[in-house]
This record gives sequence, structure tokens and C-alpha cells, in this order.
Amino acid sequence: MVISEPRCSATVLLGGTFDPVHQGHVNSALELSQYLSGQATPTQMVHLLPNSQPVHRLTPQASAQQRAQMLALATAKYEQLAVDERELCRQGPSYSVLTMAEVRAEIGPQQPLIWCLGVDAFAGLLHWHRWQELLDYGHLLVLSRPQATWPTNTQLLTWYAAHQVAEAKQLLASPLGQVAHLKLGQYAVSATQLRQQLCTGQQPSALYLAPAVAQYIADERLYGI
Ligand code: ATP
Repeated sequence: MVISEPRCSATVLLGGTFDPVHQGHVNSALELSQYLSGQATPTQMVHLLPNSQPVHRLTPQASAQQRAQMLALATAKYEQLAVDERELCRQGPSYSVLTMAEVRAEIGPQQPLIWCLGVDAFAGLLHWHRWQELLDYGHLLVLSRPQATWPTNTQLLTWYAAHQVAEAKQLLASPLGQVAHLKLGQYAVSATQLRQQLCTGQQPSALYLAPAVAQYIADERLYGI
């Protein structure tokens, strides 16, 4: 499956567990699309990519199919967002390096591939499978997140400095090999916080959980509802 589209200048992926998808994910992806498009009308697609077997965390509470369904509901009204289910269709742990290699093979050597992750996920990068090879396939773009601080690990920071470009937009100028940091609007929400609220009978604000997703969670009796 070739996921890039002719009007896109890059293939942009935001990987995660999305248990459940929240407005921090959706709004960050929308803003990122706008930022990379460089114009008021966003033309750059951002693909939200749910993992099947997350490697560094507990098994998700919602099934892969439920998480994909919630993503479909949350992104339905945005042309510039899409859901990429490739990791759900693959056996074994959802290693990002394998996904990036697969996508690179599909899009060919020239197109920029940008793998986005929050700064909390970036802090754990040295524990990722074959992390040194990630930049052989694409770029990494680290997104700020409220309450998540910039890592202090020397090895990680040295690696970051060796590949860093000053502005995230510069990632569009080459296919792979660089890292950048981008501060978007700060959305103080996490899936953990939403699961806790739902399980204690609170209704999360629509600012944080899209109403269609909240309805799906209630219908499926997810997260201890
Ligand atoms: P949990 O609380 O269960 O760990 P989460 O809210 O971090 O979940 P994930 O599905 O793990 O959600 O996140 C997918 C990716 O999106 C990760 O790289 C994460 O850092 C990033 N991300 C999640 N929430 C935000 C947010 N509010 N702002 C910016 N990035 C975010």
C-alpha cells in the first residue's frame, strides 16, 4: 500500500498506542499539517499510526480494532488526517524501525519521511529496537508536550546534536537523516489521564476527548465504564 499522496511534499507519521486517541493527538497532527503546508489551507497529510503490540508499555486496554475505530472517528472530518493500520496487520512487536523501512520502500528514496513523537517518547529513544538505524529511513520530529521536559541523557543529546536542524521545516528539504524539535499549541491531556477519569465515572471535556470517541467508549464499555 503506497500511503503518500501526490499533493503531499512528505510522508508524515505519528505513531502511538492511542488508547484512546485524544485531542492532544488530533490537534497536534492538525497543527503540524498546517505548519508543514506553509499556508492557510493544509495540503500535507499526517498519518496516525496505531501500534499493535507496543514495546515499552503495558498491553492496551482497548483492542487493536477498537483503537483503530476510535482513530477513524476522531479523524473523520479532517481531510488532512488519515489512519495507517499497517502495524495492526503485522505480526510481532511494533518496532518503528521496521515500519519506517517498510514505508521508505514504498515511497522510494527521494521523498521526505518524517516520524513524529512526543518529547516523552523521545526521552526513551535509546531503548527502541535498532534506534541508531531510524535515521537511515527518515527524519525524527520531536513534539513538545506540557509537563514533559527535554531529556538529559548525554548519549541521546549528543546523538540529537549530531543530526539536528534548526527549524523543523528544514526536514522537508531532504529525505532522511535529520532530527528537529517543534513546539505546537500545548495540549495538556494524556490517554492515561482520560482512562483514569472514565474509570472513575467522570466525563472528560470535549476539549480533550472528541464526542464521537466518547460515545464509542460508552457504547463499547471501555476503560471500566
Ligand atoms: P498514555 O498516557 O497512555 O501513555 P499518550 O497520551 O502518551 O498515552 P500515546 O498514544 O502514547 O498517547 O501517544 C502517541 C504519540 O503522541 C507519542 O509520541 C506521544 O508522546 C505523543 N503525544 C501524546 N499526547 C500528546 C500531547 N498532548 N501533545 C503532544 N504529543 C503528544
